[in-house]
Amino acid sequence: MDRNITNNINEIKKRIASACKKCGRTEDSVRLLLATKTVSPEIIRIAINSGEKLIGENKVQEFTAKSALLSDLEYERHFIGHLQTNKIKEVLKYVSCIETVDRMDLANKLNSRLEIEERVLDIFIQVNTSLEGTKSGIDPDKALSFIDKVKLFPNLKIKGFMTIGLFSDDTIAVRRSYSRLREIREKAIEEKILPSGFYELSMGMSDDLEIAIEEGATIVRVGSSIFGERVYN
Ligand SMILES: *Cc1c(COP(=O)(O)O)cnc(C)c1O
Repeated sequence: MDRNITNNINEIKKRIASACKKCGRTEDSVRLLLATKTVSPEIIRIAINSGEKLIGENKVQEFTAKSALLSDLEYERHFIGHLQTNKIKEVLKYVSCIETVDRMDLANKLNSRLEIEERVLDIFIQVNTSLEGTKSGIDPDKALSFIDKVKLFPNLKIKGFMTIGLFSDDTIAVRRSYSRLREIREKAIEEKILPSGFYELSMGMSDDLEIAIEEGATIVRVGSSIFGERVYN
């Protein structure tokens, strides 16, 4: 198992490197986030010890339970799932970045709690760039005005943008769901909604990370290609 995981990580790194090369980007301009939902803490530990320092979880309870078991290790803990406001306190115990801030209610309550804890948290704005009604994320049409309000919360630091791409064989439509996120980042800077600077684009998964990288991803989130098919209990 040990060897499998590290081999699989190396394979993904090769895919990242060749995608970067193809579009004239440097290999280190894209970071790999391991999407570890349903993966055991023992396996995650192996991945972290092999040098991976960016881990993402989707469910608050699973996130806190595993984070507690891995609290002796140093790594970045991103939350990448839909976050209910009644779980804010819980998720804040371990999280280093919440990638899925997608509504005012959440931003507001998150900021209030952070104020009490006297800390500032890195966040990404999640945008529903695939335009699928079932997905989390703010509508692309409303993203800029949303960012304009979220930036006013003193305890939230906007570090980037996140999207779950379109799940489809239509690669043109998938690409569009990623270019939309890049355009929102560009517009936010152009229209001076955000100060110019570096903002992450967290997009691309096992099946489509090459497309996401070509469209500017700075973080790709990979699960099944590394850990195998997920088994849900
Ligand atoms: C599970 C998950 C991923 C990884 O998906 P794979 O297809 O397994 O690589 C990426 N992002 C989010 C938000 C996820 O929930």
